[in-house]
Amino acid sequence: MIPFLDLKGINAQYRAELIEACTKVIDSGWYIQGNECKEFEKEFAEYCGTKYAIGVANGLDALILILRAYKELGIMKDGDEVIVPSNTYIASILAISQNNLVPVLVEPDINTYLIDPNKIEEKITSKTKAILPVHLYGQTCEMDKINEIAKKYNLKVIEDSAQSHGAYFGEKRSGNLGDASGFSFYPGKNLGALGDGGAVTTNDEELANAIKALGNYGSHKKYENLYKGINSRLDEMQAALLRVKLRYLDEEIQKRREIASYYIENIKNPNIILPIQHPTSNIQHYKNHVWHLFVIRTQNRDELQNYLHVEGIQTLIHYPIPPHKQMAYKEWNNESYLISEQIHNEVLSLPISGVQSLEDTMKIVKVLNDY
Ligand SMILES: *Cc1c(COP(=O)(O)O)cnc(C)c1O
Repeated sequence: MIPFLDLKGINAQYRAELIEACTKVIDSGWYIQGNECKEFEKEFAEYCGTKYAIGVANGLDALILILRAYKELGIMKDGDEVIVPSNTYIASILAISQNNLVPVLVEPDINTYLIDPNKIEEKITSKTKAILPVHLYGQTCEMDKINEIAKKYNLKVIEDSAQSHGAYFGEKRSGNLGDASGFSFYPGKNLGALGDGGAVTTNDEELANAIKALGNYGSHKKYENLYKGINSRLDEMQAALLRVKLRYLDEEIQKRREIASYYIENIKNPNIILPIQHPTSNIQHYKNHVWHLFVIRTQNRDELQNYLHVEGIQTLIHYPIPPHKQMAYKEWNNESYLISEQIHNEVLSLPISGVQSLEDTMKIVKVLNDY
């Protein structure tokens, strides 16, 4: 069976260095908010090109804390609206709801699966305070257009970069394309910890300080609490492991790009729609995508998935049920977002990773072309 993602194989590449990192943490006697977290924050900020990175417990918390900080700073209040794509992993939307803010769903572009900038303005009201674009599958959204709208209406732009570590838009990287950005280091992400982890990046010092405090019981100074905060910290062990893996992230991305190019050049089946990158003026256009997922689309998706399974190829669906059809959002169940629904019915994610062999990639292409 060709696995969808060989996580064991991915981490085995760095086994010696990962063990060394663990040993260092064990022997340090310091396990929360120590040197490893501080160094990782510095290195990750530098990687993204931002002034600040703040380690947190996971990607959902990263987004929750950004919005919470804006509330504490008086920039947002209960009932304010945040624009978010209707096809995303539900975490992007949960972060808004959990802050007593109102998610306003905007349909994606059917070609890129990313929020359609042309449909944002019609959803803006006097209560809109932010746009939360999601760089879904690893491709950055059309940030020039999104930032222009945000500027016009004085909105914050909060990137969901959980799938797009290292992706560019123009000269800047994901995490540095708006006012603040949430990252996830869930093990399966392109930069994955060996457990949960997340980070916020921003260039806004006031916001960075608020987030740092909010994630640590609202404490900005030991035993003094400025806010009613939560406990959401990146622990030393995960930070130490992430420091090792961050050094290899660009290599991982490069290998993913090679597999994606191979798929795009060689899958020739009229029943299969290949991923399309949005056109930008950016000459290094290919850098906009880090291929966290390689997502194809087809009308008989379940049949194709079955066929691939029988042929020994594991695939996944990102995602089978759109957020507005989830029980968690019962209040939206009768609404229709037709493009999102079509995407959720037709998408299929092919195996892709830095450890996938050319032989496996070739087999996947052949099996797809024979379908
Ligand atoms: C993974 C993911 C998250 C949440 O990250 P966790 O670390 O699992 O909390 C948020 N948004 C998107 C788009 C994701 O893919």
